[in-house]
Amino acid sequence: MHEFATAQSIVRTVTRAALMHQAKKITEVRLELGEFTFINPQQLQFVFEIAAKGSPAEEAKLIITRLPGKIKCLKCGYEGGLKYTGPEIHSSVMAAFVLDCPKCGNKETEIIGGRELRIKDIKVEME
Ligand SMILES: [Zn+2]
Repeated sequence: MHEFATAQSIVRTVTRAALMHQAKKITEVRLELGEFTFINPQQLQFVFEIAAKGSPAEEAKLIITRLPGKIKCLKCGYEGGLKYTGPEIHSSVMAAFVLDCPKCGNKETEIIGGRELRIKDIKVEME
């Protein structure tokens, strides 16, 4: 599962950061998550709790900020968001279907934003 591997890697990263600062406990993790990472934020929340068990991040609150996806049309030069208003996209298979240019309908588009998966900030508790 995509989300679980992601959660594990977040736990590893924040645990390392906590150890570096000799912090006992991580209380908060702020994450930026792009729309085109195809990670379901609710699922990520859920598996983060599982992945963090037994680590300093065990009781950390995961705060996810979503960043919208942006595409560039290779035909008409359109740059911006998608007009897609259906259910949230959770797989690259579905993405291939919705990534058409909203202006001219061209299918040859390039993703220029929304692939972010960044830990912005963590809060820790010192001993
Ligand atoms: Zn276009």
